[in-house]
Amino acid sequence: MAGQTPGGRPSRSSEGRSSFDKFVEAENLIETCEAFDELCGADEDFTSDKPFHEQLKNKVQFSSWKAGELLKEIDKIANKKVYNKGKACTDTKVLIIGAGPCGLRAAIELALLGAKVVLIEKRSSFTRNNVLYLWRYLITDLTNLGAKKFYGRFGTGDINHISIIKLQTILLKVALLVGVEVHYNVEFVSLDEKPKSESFIEEGWRANLKPKDHEISKYEFNVIIAADGRQNTLPDFTWKESSRRLAIGITTNYVNKQSQKDANTKEISGKSYIYDQEFFQGLKDAHNIDLENIVYYKDETHYFVMTAKKQSLIEKGVIKKDCPDVDSLLASSNVNQKSLQKYATEAALYATEGKLPTEEFALNHNGKPDIAMFDFTSRKQATKAVIAREVDGKTLLMAVVGDSLKEPFWPEGTGCALGFLGVFDTVWMIRSVATEDRTLEEALHDREVIYKLLSNTKQEDLNKNYSQYTIDPRTRYTSQVAQNKELYKEEPKRPEFRRN
Ligand code: FAD
Repeated sequence: MAGQTPGGRPSRSSEGRSSFDKFVEAENLIETCEAFDELCGADEDFTSDKPFHEQLKNKVQFSSWKAGELLKEIDKIANKKVYNKGKACTDTKVLIIGAGPCGLRAAIELALLGAKVVLIEKRSSFTRNNVLYLWRYLITDLTNLGAKKFYGRFGTGDINHISIIKLQTILLKVALLVGVEVHYNVEFVSLDEKPKSESFIEEGWRANLKPKDHEISKYEFNVIIAADGRQNTLPDFTWKESSRRLAIGITTNYVNKQSQKDANTKEISGKSYIYDQEFFQGLKDAHNIDLENIVYYKDETHYFVMTAKKQSLIEKGVIKKDCPDVDSLLASSNVNQKSLQKYATEAALYATEGKLPTEEFALNHNGKPDIAMFDFTSRKQATKAVIAREVDGKTLLMAVVGDSLKEPFWPEGTGCALGFLGVFDTVWMIRSVATEDRTLEEALHDREVIYKLLSNTKQEDLNKNYSQYTIDPRTRYTSQVAQNKELYKEEPKRPEFRRN
């Protein structure tokens, strides 16, 4: 666990680095949480009447130059009017499922509003090597959160991207600094469906977790946010699926030694068949590799993602046997790993004009060459973004965000872009309810109206004044729908609100 632990004086570690430096340099989930616990120490208690990061600032600002600088950046954000000095949501108790980019980003906003936020993550490490393309507003958003202080190279390449592990680690650090309580190796299993029991009347909504007796199973909350990716663990929600023709993606990572040879390759922000027929025809003629698109980012690794046509995978021996259903088609028993490695490497070398050092695959979390084939033929989208339940006067707001709300189409890099917009919209709704700016029914209604808008949002549709973005939808969307003053006054139509 890491988060609002008892405090103490910042210590110098045995290697001479301050505990704050160790925290800044930590590279994954456990390391970050442990460094944070060390940073907070055990001598003094943090109180709940002041924003957590302010108390932390008083303790650590002289321990490292970075500490003061970083916490000043957070101060700047926390002082935005919308947070009302961390007092906008003081009675809001939130459980967030999942430490992916969207769960962490939601946790940060809610903590800044003064909510008590507990985030649970079923894994103990961030394991994916994907590199994510970031829309321009995300670069500003993450820079404002201090991303450059944690990762000096952030936003410096030709193309705006970041490895997902780096992104999650940065967001985790900010979340901890603003007072989010983070628990890893804790899985959300279900909502406690015994609300009529005596313990409910006394304590309110709770979750069933794995491990069963984890301290957080006693945590009482009035908001629950599922940021659990494709898992969809919350009750009452439904999803609709949209399919296109068969789409098989391949991701692969090669070691980036940061040598001159590594520096010689040129990134590919995205080539697709419709715009670059000559390139794809050349690849087909040279290697019998038939792709629809390809992306190459030089980041912590040399990262490639491409969409391959089934027939060429069969002809090149990657897929052993054609099968009518995609699960059997891509089952590990039907994939020749060596041929898959050769396929991806030939494509990577062709795309980089033979310059890419492809001798060494980066390893995945299982210690195997990091290459994977996946199906993205269909994508799911929640039919509602939020549902409320009320039992014995105790209201529970349930919301889905990120991939759980709407699975992105990765070639457009919409995952975090639309994911964070949806997070901000959700947090805005929670704030509207907490501050009683809107009735519960009105806030639920507004949320669904804005959710409809999200699906069609493109980068060009957003307000270009990125530094002015807040959780208020009107600061981000230029669409009439979001700007229409009447929107927030309209009579609710059919919000999802269940009274047991
Ligand atoms: P996730 O990142 O999936 O995180 C969910 C978290 O919840 C996980 O850590 C999981 O362990 C945890 N969890 C799940 N169930 C439970 C439970 N029951 N209890 C506790 N924890 C749980 N996006 C971009 O923005 N740009 C890109 O260029 C881009 N490229 C992509 C390329 C590929 C090949 C793929 C597959 C995706 C790409 N994406 C891209 C999409 C991006 O990765 C996702 O949109 C993003 O990770 C979604 O974040 P999330 O927080 O919603 O979910």
